[in-house]
Amino acid sequence: MTEPNGCAHCDIALREHFRRWTPQCGWHAWVQPSTAQILARMQARRAARLNSQNGGTR
Ligand SMILES: [Zn+2]
Repeated sequence: MTEPNGCAHCDIALREHFRRWTPQCGWHAWVQPSTAQILARMQARRAARLNSQNGGTR
């Protein structure tokens, strides 16, 4: 699941990040995402939730 406050590079939350490797930046520590990045993730998460409700068992 996408974490709105996750790392700017790889979306992983601070508590479970430690050191990660990504093709873009190699090994890195958790990086504070920008406000715009957090908002975009929250909107994406809300959209995904609405989609799953509309297409759900109800
Ligand atoms: Zn990261």
